Amino acid sequence: MNNNYITLTIGKKKNIALIAHDNKKADLIEWCEQNKDILTQHFLCGTGTTARMITDKTGLPVKGYNSGPLGGDQQIGAKIVEGRIDFVVFFSDPLTAQPHDPDVKALLRIAQVYDIPIANNRASADFMIHSEFMNEEYEHEVINFKKNIKERSETL
Ligand code: PGA
Repeated sequence: MNNNYITLTIGKKKNIALIAHDNKKADLIEWCEQNKDILTQHFLCGTGTTARMITDKTGLPVKGYNSGPLGGDQQIGAKIVEGRIDFVVFFSDPLTAQPHDPDVKALLRIAQVYDIPIANNRASADFMIHSEFMNEEYEHEVINFKKNIKERSETL
C-alpha cells in the first residue's frame, strides 16, 4: 500500500471498550459473564455506568470513564485516535432515542476511520471475540495522519 497509510498493530492483549445503552446493559453483562475467560486476558474499560455494573456483576476489572451521556463515548473515541483502545463492544439500542446521539455517531465514525473492530450487537460481538485474531497480533492500515496534515497544510 502507498504511504497514504501506515501499518499499525493491534497487540495480542487487546484494549477493549465495553458500552451498553440502558436497555442493553443486562445483555452486555450476560455476554461478559459468558466470555469471562477470554475477557480476563485483555485490558477492559468502558463508559461509567456500564463499566461499574459489569465489575459489580461479573467481578471483571473494567476501568470506567464518564457516563456516556456525560462524554464517556467521546473519551473512548479520543482514546481510539490516540491508539489506546483497539477493540469495541457497543450494545447500542436501536429502538430508543438517545440524548447523546451525536456522540454515539461520532464514536462509530472514528472507529471506522481508524479501522477498529466494533460490534454493535451480540452476534457481531460473538463472531469478534471468537476470532483467531484474538490470540495474535493484527496488523492493519490506518490513514497516515502526519502525511495528511503535511499535504493539507501545503495545499489549502
Ligand atoms: P453508561 O453510558 O455506561 O454511563 O450508561 C453508556 C451510553 O449511554 O453511551
